[in-house]
Amino acid sequence: MTADCLFCRIVAGDVPSPRVAESERSIAIRDINPAAPVHVLVVPKRHEPDIGALARSSTEDLADVFALVGRVAEQEGIATDHRIVANTGRGAGQSVFHAHVHVLGGTELAER
Ligand code: AMP
Ligand code: ZN
Repeated sequence: MTADCLFCRIVAGDVPSPRVAESERSIAIRDINPAAPVHVLVVPKRHEPDIGALARSSTEDLADVFALVGRVAEQEGIATDHRIVANTGRGAGQSVFHAHVHVLGGTELAER
């Protein structure tokens, strides 16, 4: 747990954020500023600054994130039509430096 990390605080329950789903190693929460009708963030419980760092530190945690993405997509009714995004670095729009993936769907998503 990193005390000044928003997602560590959400994982710990210090910042309230209802969980859409949870696994042993990850949580899923709704994005506070949704970019699509369904916009869920899947967040590993372990603090790593980005998804690449998570992959390097634990393949189990990485696999767990994507397994939970699948469950969330199923639960939200977007299993066959959704997008997964992982921003790395400020230049790519990353604003929370705790690894996470965006799961977007529920509408026609523009190509790109
Ligand atoms: P990124 O820009 O890829 O780092 O994604 C961070 C995301 O976290 C943004 O889409 C924010 O809208 C979202 N966010 C920021 N604070 C919260 C919060 N307290 N609860 C849920 N989502 C949040
Ligand atoms: Zn963190």
